[in-house]
Amino acid sequence: MPVRVGIPRALLYYYYFPLWKKFLEQLGAEVVVSGRTTKGILTRGVQLCVDEACLPIKLAFGHVQDLVDKGVDVLFLPRMVSVARREYICPKFLGFPDMIRQNVSDLPPLIDTAINVRNKDQDIHRFIHEVGAYFGKGSLQSWLAYRSALATHRQYVGLLEQGLLPEEALSALNGKTPAPGSGQEDLTVAVIGHPYNIYDPFISMNIIHRLRESGARVLTADHISEEKVNQGVGRLPKKLFWTLSRRVTGGALIFDHEQSVDGIIHVAAFACGPDSMTGELIERYIRRNGKVPFMNINLDEHTGEAGIVTRMEAFLDMVRWRRAVV
Ligand code: SF4
Repeated sequence: MPVRVGIPRALLYYYYFPLWKKFLEQLGAEVVVSGRTTKGILTRGVQLCVDEACLPIKLAFGHVQDLVDKGVDVLFLPRMVSVARREYICPKFLGFPDMIRQNVSDLPPLIDTAINVRNKDQDIHRFIHEVGAYFGKGSLQSWLAYRSALATHRQYVGLLEQGLLPEEALSALNGKTPAPGSGQEDLTVAVIGHPYNIYDPFISMNIIHRLRESGARVLTADHISEEKVNQGVGRLPKKLFWTLSRRVTGGALIFDHEQSVDGIIHVAAFACGPDSMTGELIERYIRRNGKVPFMNINLDEHTGEAGIVTRMEAFLDMVRWRRAVV
């Protein structure tokens, strides 16, 4: 019987799930994903997590509990330190496996090997070797498994850059053709924010889907290449060393600079340290330029759907009106 390894549908799931799934399957594991976010999953996460944590971390607790309830044999919670040279992921990712150990009962074993390529890309080999060894594989077998997973990951990133959303790209990887857009969209809106805030339909109040239904084509920072993101962030006087914030800020600034969208919506999470700084930066730059309408949305566990929908509709009305008169 293969080992059942649980991956929470939270945090960096939206970037790395295809890579992790393929890697673990090539090592002989069966991958189990937590369910889609529900009120129950969020409430459980809020109960288990410390009050001071940001919303995505609280939600991730709920997803871990869901996997524990599903009876997985092992939880895959790599300690995400750095995924790019001279950059870091937020410190809350770094401490996540420890927070889970402290606060969740009846846990199965955790695979919490660190991913840290801050100093050199080759440091990923330690991660590959340690995870492979957990499943009794040697260095060569582990490396071949990872190489095959990396090919899938590159395919996935290519699909995102073609304009698909993560769920659509996952379907495309599984051979299913995603439903095309209506082709009737009369404007383009960029939704900017951390992947776990904008792509989780429950936590984001389904904002992307609602925008599409209202006749807007939606772009995110994941629809543009890394090169473009860096061009955008290059407009700042100093380098941002938080990877996720760099992507969000670079995406927003390049959309604004090229005026390739009709409006920009920035989605931030309550109690997010990096967002409190980059959100302010993005807003100042975009408002100073004064070319592209901008709206900030802050999410927390008490955010009401009606309020978000009203603001989004008012924003779209304003964007359409502005286009008609400018
Ligand atoms: S970047 Fe912000 S939202 Fe994401 S885990 Fe860190 S504090 Fe939370």
